[in-house]
Amino acid sequence: TKYVYDFAEGDRSQKDLLGGKGANLAEMTKLGLPVPPGFTITTEACRAYLTNGAEPAELSSQISDAMAAVEQAMGKQLGDPADPLLVSVRSGAKFSMPGMMETVLNIGLNDQSVAGLTAQSGDDRFAWDSYRRLIQMFGKTVSEVPGEAFEHALDGAKAAKGTKNDLDLDAADLRAIVDAYKKIYSEHVGHDFPQDPREQLEMAVRAVFNSWNAERAVLYRRQERIPAELGTAVNVQTMVFGNLGADSGTGVAFTRDPGTGAQGVYGDYLSNAQGEDVVAGIRNTVPLQDLEQLDKASYDQLMSIMAKLEGHYQDLCDIEFTIERGKLWMLQTRVGKRTAAAAFIIATQLVDEGVIDLDEALQRVNGAQLAQLMFPHFDLSGNPTHLANGLSASPGAAVGKAVFDSGRATEQAAAGQKVILVRKETTPDDLPGMIAAEGILTSRGGKTSHAAVVARGMGKTCVCGAEALDVDIAGQKFTTDGQTINEGDVISIDGSTGKVYLGEIPVQPSPVVQYFEGTVAADADTLVAAVHRLISHADGARKLGVRTNADTGEDASRARRFGAEGIGLCRTEHMFLGDRRELVERLILADTEQEQEQALAALLPLQRGDFVEIFEAMDGQPVTVRLIDPPLHEFLPPLEELAVRVALAQERGQDPGRDKTLLAAVHRMHEQNPMLGLRGVRLGLVIPGLFDMQVRAIAEAAVERIKAGGDPKAEIMVPLVGAVQELETVRQEAEAVLKDVAERSGVDVPALIGTMIEVPRAALTAGQIAEAAEFFSFGTNDLTQMGWGFSRDDVEGAFFGRYLEQGIFGVSPFETIDADGIGRMVKIAVAEGRAARPDLKIGVCGEHGGDPESVHFFHHAGLDYVSCSPFRVPVARLEAGRAAG
Ligand code: PEP
Ligand code: MG
Repeated sequence: TKYVYDFAEGDRSQKDLLGGKGANLAEMTKLGLPVPPGFTITTEACRAYLTNGAEPAELSSQISDAMAAVEQAMGKQLGDPADPLLVSVRSGAKFSMPGMMETVLNIGLNDQSVAGLTAQSGDDRFAWDSYRRLIQMFGKTVSEVPGEAFEHALDGAKAAKGTKNDLDLDAADLRAIVDAYKKIYSEHVGHDFPQDPREQLEMAVRAVFNSWNAERAVLYRRQERIPAELGTAVNVQTMVFGNLGADSGTGVAFTRDPGTGAQGVYGDYLSNAQGEDVVAGIRNTVPLQDLEQLDKASYDQLMSIMAKLEGHYQDLCDIEFTIERGKLWMLQTRVGKRTAAAAFIIATQLVDEGVIDLDEALQRVNGAQLAQLMFPHFDLSGNPTHLANGLSASPGAAVGKAVFDSGRATEQAAAGQKVILVRKETTPDDLPGMIAAEGILTSRGGKTSHAAVVARGMGKTCVCGAEALDVDIAGQKFTTDGQTINEGDVISIDGSTGKVYLGEIPVQPSPVVQYFEGTVAADADTLVAAVHRLISHADGARKLGVRTNADTGEDASRARRFGAEGIGLCRTEHMFLGDRRELVERLILADTEQEQEQALAALLPLQRGDFVEIFEAMDGQPVTVRLIDPPLHEFLPPLEELAVRVALAQERGQDPGRDKTLLAAVHRMHEQNPMLGLRGVRLGLVIPGLFDMQVRAIAEAAVERIKAGGDPKAEIMVPLVGAVQELETVRQEAEAVLKDVAERSGVDVPALIGTMIEVPRAALTAGQIAEAAEFFSFGTNDLTQMGWGFSRDDVEGAFFGRYLEQGIFGVSPFETIDADGIGRMVKIAVAEGRAARPDLKIGVCGEHGGDPESVHFFHHAGLDYVSCSPFRVPVARLEAGRAAG
């Protein structure tokens, strides 16, 4: 097996094998860009190592061959005492996992070759600094020496020198630090720092393989839904140095602003530094534009390379580069991560530039990004206290209590607190706290710092590089401008402007929501215009209809403004709450048929009024009204409450009256498993007149609307059907009621009668059920509940946390449809339902109807529409369009 690829051998299509970084290094090499020579060890080698606990036998000799080729290209030998070739060893998985895995630089340095590096560079400070970096990185990542041990020694040396700046340390200081580091290394590891360059290389490669299963990498993969079995590739690359003096430096750049999508060149540059310094955000960078003054030739070359890369990849690229004594080197490129707003703006810009078409642009954005753009912003009209300005690293408006370490953040969040994680800078160790926090605030680092990159990836609000903040982690506080903010004080951070405020600031809606609401025009700003264009294109492309779940006229109207093409689920149970609850009680407690009829008769006009309102809001569009579904005792007071009331009354010698009757009823109606009990169609069959009343209310409302010149399109839906006989019985009665209303009113009421498919048996006998149903709507909430046997009301708190942690599933099946299991039932029901009734209309109204991944599933399953909550309607429209593309 070929486990090692020279950069000149691969290309960008080989991300599976070479990882993203390796594939793109190969692509840049192919494009003739100045890439330091090197090679990639494949993900296949990593998988073999992780499975067998040992490297594949052929790997070592393949590395030797590849190394020999690099040595030949460079005219140097790895670790040669006279003139050492040095290499970096970096991870690079198929999907970018920023900072999650290991990197070791300066492999090849040892007690001898440090002299060679001194001689060749003419800079002994640089050589010793490189050596100390190697021991520090290697010690920490390969041999698991605690990083603080090294940092402590370094800080000590700086303190002795009376400085805080690494650059004030001279060669002799660094040499002493190397000695100290070597001691630290052997004390912690039990043997000396390896001097053999080849041994260094092999140990580093193995450490990268192992880092695939590091705790933080596992956590990140789960968050980002990256499959655990992919493994990482390892890139071994000739070192070039940005820390060889003022004519050297390193930077990160984007071909467009990844925060706003604005065209132009955007980036951070740090002179006389190595790449890790920029990414870690340890020192503050200067804007890339300043490089033009510092080194015009390199700047111009960089600009032309960036233009070439953007043209080649046809998308925003981010790059890492290093300038070594005036010579530019490209260390990395990839299609860059970007904020949600930038994704929409860039996609449409590229269309305008003629680079891609609208179909492709639609694939460059997604529903999760659109959902993010529908987040609210701060309302600053109250003139809040402004604490500091930072960089707008990741948009959104976050409010929470300041906390200063990852552990506190997770603790407080678990206790239900909203927190903002405040750090000087973040490292991969802070990841759990970043996940738990509402937002992240740092005092150091640019838009490409760890905090910024990770927050953007998670869609979490982040302000970074707020330099005015003096963050005191040990003291759990920060000070700025004479003010002190302690742990627990509430702050507000605006990731779109970079501003930090004291206290809780009210939030206002997003312009994208206002556009959907119709209160701002489609050309109001670049972002709104981009959203308008792409969602319109999605509407033109999609095969799925998009409806909404709404039970009030108000929700229906909003959803309609958001683009809903009807109601897919109007839950009628909400219409029995509030002051109507008493009527339901009367119905439940009725002793005689007459009392029951009276209660229903009192409910009828109220229900009719609700339906009139909804039909009016959705005029001309279908409205699926579902007959009452939950167990009736949900409308009665809770057992404990009643029992206490009755006991209290009796103790005081009073008559508990009605409470006593209610208590008896609650006892009588008690079920061990109410979700599997008397609910849905079963209620309709057991309680005479209940469904009839609802059907009559629907029909009479429709008549009223027709008489008023409206165009109601009623669809009557029966819940929880498991057998066609249930549906047939209800259907016959419903048809009789419809006929009666038509005769009495003289108005013909066209209404479809159909059913939910939410009991597994219904899905598996869909062919029979379709004989009696004019439409199906998948209730994937109950279908998931009953298919998995997971109580939808209990699992999230009880054990889903553990399930997610252990990777039993990557996401809750109540959130994203379980395509293999529950989805299989959906497919069976679609096929058998349509076979029995070719014009059967099929939709879904469970929560999954608004979940991006699930929308794609329903598209491919051939449904006619999805139905979701009003706010998710735009997301569903966009994803339905993408699914069809
Ligand atoms: C469902 O079960 O998916 C559904 C839409 O009904 P409900 O959530 O009301 O049970
Ligand atoms: Mg249901």
